[in-house]
Amino acid sequence: MAWKSSFRENICTLEQLKEYISLTPTEEKHLQKVIQLHPMSVTKYYLSLIDAKDKNDPIKKMIIPSVEELDLEGSYDTSGESENTKFTGLQHKYSQTALVLSTNQCAAYCRFCFRKRLVGCTNDEVLHQFSNACEYIRKNKQINNVLISGGDPLILPTKVLEGFLEMLSGISHLRFIRFGSRTPVAFPDRILLDDGLTNILKKHSKKQRRIYIVTHFNHPNEITDKSIDCIDKLIRSNVIVNNQTVLLGGVNDDPYLLAELLNKLVSIGVNPYYVFQCRPVKRVKHHFQISLYRGYRIVENAKKMLNGHSKRFKYIMSHRTGKIEIVGVMDNENKDTEMYFKYHQAKNPKNIGKFFKMKLNKSAGWLDDLK
Ligand code: SF4
Repeated sequence: MAWKSSFRENICTLEQLKEYISLTPTEEKHLQKVIQLHPMSVTKYYLSLIDAKDKNDPIKKMIIPSVEELDLEGSYDTSGESENTKFTGLQHKYSQTALVLSTNQCAAYCRFCFRKRLVGCTNDEVLHQFSNACEYIRKNKQINNVLISGGDPLILPTKVLEGFLEMLSGISHLRFIRFGSRTPVAFPDRILLDDGLTNILKKHSKKQRRIYIVTHFNHPNEITDKSIDCIDKLIRSNVIVNNQTVLLGGVNDDPYLLAELLNKLVSIGVNPYYVFQCRPVKRVKHHFQISLYRGYRIVENAKKMLNGHSKRFKYIMSHRTGKIEIVGVMDNENKDTEMYFKYHQAKNPKNIGKFFKMKLNKSAGWLDDLK
């Protein structure tokens, strides 16, 4: 398979990286420490999107390890994934959705990943047998959709993915299937060079049981001729493509840039689904998370440049207790600033739709930082 040989050429060592990006000896020493804990892997395609002359290049910030990853503030499980794990590799947090961790591999390892604890590292949290997940879904009839995640499931062999879809096809109460994947962004050739993959997607994405790919574009520079062709191929394979973006400091924390990204996504057939507040993940929070106050302003200012279609997304904090929409800020004269929230989805169903406010500390980046 052509995509596999291209994948084998990923840049995984500092020696290889130095052919493309210059590193000082001190940087090299620190980065070696970083990648021993959280491996580096970059496709040559994604690397080619970096402007080597720009030391603040946003693609570089997302994919090349940095010494800032030595900062340990935060947690490796910010959304309570361990509490929601029913058995290894299967999480059930929201009544209608089962989440499967199908692999710990990705096309490329994003430095901001909230599952940093496992990507490219341990296999301990990955599902052993997909049939066990199917058995669980079959027994729990309230589950109407499954999110196959990881890692990135689209990096699995096509035969394996076909097996997943065949097994799921026997569960009648399942109404749709989602794959969470950044492959269209970081490695579009995986999809462009393998008609077998799009053929199975086409076969299984049916009139009343669609396949969704939730992809993850964060910056307009990721929308290239190749990624546009990749999205087009997916759409022509009966797949619906949604996008989630994470607000990342130094990458897309600018209303003009965010608006450009969301407008471009709509133009290529990708529906903006969520804009996420960056989670307080260890080795991520320090240099990627921006404050809720700033995040809200950026999102609202971006919305002023968007049409209705491009601003269907919600600005969300994926918290241990649920998906919390950040809906407003009240700057009160001579009084505390307040932020308004609403549970879009909740672990405790009683909280779904609950609207609440908190006193806002303007540097806070997460609900737990507020009183
Ligand atoms: S592709 Fe997704 S799971 Fe993989 S490292 Fe990037 S953000 Fe994490």
